Amino acid sequence: MLVPDSLRPRALHLARLLGRPGFHLFLTGLLMVLGFAFAHALSERSGREQLSALSTERLELYASNLAAELGRHAYLPSLLAIDPTLQALVAAPQDAERRRVASQMLARINVRAGTHQIFVTDAQGQVLSASEVLAPPPRLVEALAQERSQFFAADDTTGSTDFYMLHPLRQAGRALGAIVVRFNLAPLEATWVDMGMRSQRERILVADDQDVVIMSSVQAWRYAVLDRAEPSRRAALQASARYPQAIGPDLDLPATLQAHEGTPVSLPGAPNLLAQQRQILPLGLRLVALSDLGEVRRQAQLAAWGGAAGGASIGLLILYLSSRRRALRQLTQAQAELRQAHAQLEQLVDSRTAELRQTNDALMAQIAQRLQTEGELLQASKLAVLGQMSAGLSHEVNQPLTALRALARNSIRLLESGRQDAVATNLQLMDDMVERMSQITRQLKSFARKADEQVAGSASLLDSVRAALLLLEHRSRALGLDVAVDVPPGLRVQAEANRLEQVLVNLFGNAIDAMQGESQRRLLIKTESLDDGRRVRVRVQDSGPGVADADLARLFEPFFTTKPAGEGLGLGLVISAKIVHEFGGTLRAERLEQGMSFEFDLAVDTWDATGDSRDV
Ligand code: ADP
Repeated sequence: MLVPDSLRPRALHLARLLGRPGFHLFLTGLLMVLGFAFAHALSERSGREQLSALSTERLELYASNLAAELGRHAYLPSLLAIDPTLQALVAAPQDAERRRVASQMLARINVRAGTHQIFVTDAQGQVLSASEVLAPPPRLVEALAQERSQFFAADDTTGSTDFYMLHPLRQAGRALGAIVVRFNLAPLEATWVDMGMRSQRERILVADDQDVVIMSSVQAWRYAVLDRAEPSRRAALQASARYPQAIGPDLDLPATLQAHEGTPVSLPGAPNLLAQQRQILPLGLRLVALSDLGEVRRQAQLAAWGGAAGGASIGLLILYLSSRRRALRQLTQAQAELRQAHAQLEQLVDSRTAELRQTNDALMAQIAQRLQTEGELLQASKLAVLGQMSAGLSHEVNQPLTALRALARNSIRLLESGRQDAVATNLQLMDDMVERMSQITRQLKSFARKADEQVAGSASLLDSVRAALLLLEHRSRALGLDVAVDVPPGLRVQAEANRLEQVLVNLFGNAIDAMQGESQRRLLIKTESLDDGRRVRVRVQDSGPGVADADLARLFEPFFTTKPAGEGLGLGLVISAKIVHEFGGTLRAERLEQGMSFEFDLAVDTWDATGDSRDV
């Protein structure tokens, strides 16, 4: 929908308002109130209209009932007026025989016609003859004087209102008396009460020309004066012979009801009534029907609650539709956000994967480089050991060489002087020295051999220890080292002898270095059976100063050394640990109370208690 720019803020404000739950509650409340009021008004109006139509119908019925009841015998007085018997009676009113004959006739006619009483009076209202013995109503004299043809009069004895019809008995144009027919309206009244009870609690009243209720379906309203009667009028009514002495209380029903028709009125004992009236002009009567509006009100209230429920339903429907719309909108938005987040995530995963791949490649390159460097370092370390060893060897070899030269020269001189026996002793000494030197070179050869040239096999642990000690003998002897070897002679371990010796030389060399400044220099090499003799632990303990706490964890770091430059590369322990690892064991360092202990475990090849040690 296109909204002009100037109205857009208002439209937005409205849309925001419509979206609020509070507004919907307000709207639902408003719709409930409107529904209530509308349904109430509508139902009350239509109910009242229905009631009014029904009441009008009934009013017609009552009126025609009354008119029919009264008109049924309208002909009777005039018919009787021409009867010769009655004519004869008024001609001679004192004739007892004529009275008797007339009375008999009137009684017969009364029974046949179904009237209440029929009687003949003289011009002054004296009863001459009657269908039965009776007292004429007080109003009769007045009616005769006024030459009325009909009147209503109350009967004090029965309490009912009776209708009287008159017709003059004339002879030669002079009224000598009158025929009077009396109807009792009590049965009609009873019918009204009955009908009123059955139809919407309707009440009926009939008021005469003086606005006094002469008939009513409500007993208490009988002889009440409609509207408010002035005290003087009330007194006049009281004094008139028309009604019983007691005139009832005022009924607050406007005498000019025509103008108020359809408006509710309240009467004693009946608060809410719809009043409608109809004039019965020939009789000078007013028929008023009062229908109870209570039922209409109740129906209107029910309809109102129905309307309120309808309003609430519409409000709730609007709330449901708008929240459904909002939920759908939120769902679509959430789906879009989810899609976006998904796309972002995929992008992130892609970029992370690429980064990881890069990092992985870099790591692979580093590892390859490390491996290469490690190989190079291993070689460098071997060279460093060889350097150390060659220094020792030159010392070891120089000494016997000098001795050999001296012995050789001495032997030449001894030969010249013919001392054969002394020459032989010299030669024996020289042979020992050569043997010692060849031992050293043999060790050197085996140490220098490349590891992968030899097949991993078994080695005598004691032989390896001795060989390593021999390689360092020049240093240990110079220090006056106290070496204790506690290794079973027949123990062979699964290791390459050459590399095992390299490990031991490293450990012994470090121990000798550490103990250089100590007064007590003790090196202990011992073994311990593990795993039911399947494995063995080798311990190398020294009495040196040990390692500082901070350094202990760094011992196996490559290039960690505490030795001055040129003396230590910081690779000995790293390489040793690597070799032990290759043999399937682990090299560990532990601080002792005095000194250090390096230990590693190896798989036992054979453990021969009888001993099988090579001579070193
Ligand atoms: P390097 O001997 O070339 O320094 P190593 O890896 O063999 O390299 O030893 C590293 C360090 O460990 C040595 O510098 C030394 O400080 C310490 N260390 C090794 N063995 C002992 C020991 N038995 N007593 C005290 N310190 C030792």
